[in-house]
Amino acid sequence: MSTPRRLLARLRHLMAHGTAPLPELVRMVAAELVSEVCSIYVVRPGDLLELAATEGLKPEAVGRTRLRIGEGIVGLVAATGQALNLPDAQNHPAWAYRPETGEERYASLLAVPVRRAGRTLGVIAVQNKAPRRYDADEVEVVETVAMLLAELLASTGSAETAEEDISATVPRRFTGTQLVAGIALGPVLRHGAAHAPRRLLADDPAQELARLAHAVEAMQRGLDELISARLPDGDAPREILESYRLVAADAGWLKKVNDAIRGGLSAEAAVHRVGGELRDRMRRVADPYIRERLADLEDMVNRLLVTLDEGAVAVPVPPGAILLARRLGPAELLDWHARGIAGVVVEEGSATGHAAILARALGLPTLGGVRGVLEIAEDDDEALLDADDGLLVLRPEQEVRQAYARELQARTDRQARWAARRDLPSVTADGTAVHLMLNVGLALELTQLDATGAAGIGLFRTEIAMMARGTIADVAEQAAVYGRVLDAAAGRPVMFRTLDLGGDKMLPGSAAPAEENPAMGWRSLRIGLDRPAVLRRQLRALLLAAAGRKLSVMFPMVATVAEFRAARALLLAEAARVRPAPERLAIGTMLEIPALMWQLPELLREADFVSLGTNDLMQFLFAADRGTPSLAGRYDFLSPAMLDLVAQVQAQAAAAGVPVSVCGEVAGRPLEAMTLVGLGVTTLSMPASGLAQVKDLLASLDLPAFRGVLASIRRTAGGAASLREPIAGWAREHGLPI
Ligand code: PEP
Ligand code: MG
Repeated sequence: MSTPRRLLARLRHLMAHGTAPLPELVRMVAAELVSEVCSIYVVRPGDLLELAATEGLKPEAVGRTRLRIGEGIVGLVAATGQALNLPDAQNHPAWAYRPETGEERYASLLAVPVRRAGRTLGVIAVQNKAPRRYDADEVEVVETVAMLLAELLASTGSAETAEEDISATVPRRFTGTQLVAGIALGPVLRHGAAHAPRRLLADDPAQELARLAHAVEAMQRGLDELISARLPDGDAPREILESYRLVAADAGWLKKVNDAIRGGLSAEAAVHRVGGELRDRMRRVADPYIRERLADLEDMVNRLLVTLDEGAVAVPVPPGAILLARRLGPAELLDWHARGIAGVVVEEGSATGHAAILARALGLPTLGGVRGVLEIAEDDDEALLDADDGLLVLRPEQEVRQAYARELQARTDRQARWAARRDLPSVTADGTAVHLMLNVGLALELTQLDATGAAGIGLFRTEIAMMARGTIADVAEQAAVYGRVLDAAAGRPVMFRTLDLGGDKMLPGSAAPAEENPAMGWRSLRIGLDRPAVLRRQLRALLLAAAGRKLSVMFPMVATVAEFRAARALLLAEAARVRPAPERLAIGTMLEIPALMWQLPELLREADFVSLGTNDLMQFLFAADRGTPSLAGRYDFLSPAMLDLVAQVQAQAAAAGVPVSVCGEVAGRPLEAMTLVGLGVTTLSMPASGLAQVKDLLASLDLPAFRGVLASIRRTAGGAASLREPIAGWAREHGLPI
């Protein structure tokens, strides 16, 4: 039996009960390696390394010899996380002489860090009198023992963790793009991070090699299936997968894993160990191309570990955990959400990626485009995510952490106060009823109806579910989805909006047409009218779902009355065929293109209701892309132009007896909501997160008084770009919770 296997076999025996006495361990390693000394140093509070066990050095030094991290050769190995193999240790500049150990007699030294999840828990060192460099097999043995030791120390909690270098202890700030607002404070979890395997050692290398081969094959098959899934040539995902496959087929790392198994490790422990080495290498390589390949390799290691470690208990998600991921699929996000994460940070996320859409629906604070964070962060690092400010701080300073903890508590308290208002009627202080409704896009958001006490769904974005599933469902499936929405609404009104795809909302895999301005391109109802089959199928599904109940349908991105008529004609044609007919069919339109302002008389004669989509309306009115963060604060909804527009729609619609609602994001912001109500709009549809706050504000609003004030503020605007200040000033003066 080779040295490593014999040693590991003996260690397995020693560790059979989960623990191994360190003195026994050092004796065994020293004997197997034919070295005169083997010592284990363990990190203690105060960043000290303490000699915890030794074979060969003076026994009285145990528990007494202490080194600072960075001090002496052992301290240097702990600080850098790098092994040192020195034939003439005493002439190394870092050599620190400790007379109580008696180690001056030993010339050669091999010191290996004991690391787990990127942190140093201690150092294991062997020494010999004769000057010599330890060979690769010996280094391998000590490294393997170090890995076992790491598990041992971590499971017995007998070591403090030392940061691997100073940079790992100082706060690190990263900026990114807000994908979903909110804050979170808690330990980080790295998506796909290799978790320690439960079984480290194995009796039968042949069986382990076969398990590995099987897992590799399954992984390769999975990749092949992904690649052949009809991805268009030259498409970025295809390139990524192709290069990923090349890495997966690379024999170099597999050979390393095989060697480790032959040395006596279980397949998962061997993969884990090679994965750890890769991660360490990745940190040191500057070349972005190589880093990307190594990162893929790490991903793969994690996939293999999941396959091999079947039945592994999912790592518990600590409260407030912030998930860090390179990229994240919708199913993965749902899975993590179910396990209780409080925030998400992705290196490559865009606001329209599926994960972002889902995260928004789930109310998970999310930051995207945060480069390089995965290489720096370690599992369990404390982090603070401030998506509102596009910021992630790893290992924040205590004062910063406390300030955010206070803010989080304040938000929780506020939520509780708002929840208490759930069953209160939504009326202003003077008794004007305002219908507060929800914007919804996924079935799982429907629970928010009851949680918030909303009056109904003022905007159901039908495209969101299609984007999350990746394709447009067939009629029956769509009907089932819409039917569930109506069931959940239980008689409360639901405004279904037909597919609003294109622009920033693409189905995955659908080739985006090469357009210079996709937001103003071939999108939404334009596609619906040019490809009526898709729209008709959706309309049929909606009618089927209603199954005799009330049905409200509205069309997005209507630019002309003619378009509205054409869309309505399609709906009426379908309605003529579907039985039972809805109890009542209301056909409305979104108003989000300014051109409709000059067609209002005709439109209001034909539409049953109008919903102002202020997100798009703002971008088209001010010619300011809604997706460009640097423009986000440039134009204000509370501007004379926008308020005049709303007032005109409201006045004309009221005269025509057509209900008006607002379903853009502004409806969920207290000051904007108050202003809309001041302009006469009494139906507001918003994300669930805004509802309680708006209700809270309205409850203290003296509407007649505010109307007068608002009219005067608008009259005396004098060319101001925004009326926010005078409106907010009045609200503050009257003690309104804005
Ligand atoms: C809007 O444009 O205001 C709107 C509600 O639609 P969406 O945000 O889905 O474009
Ligand atoms: Mg819109």
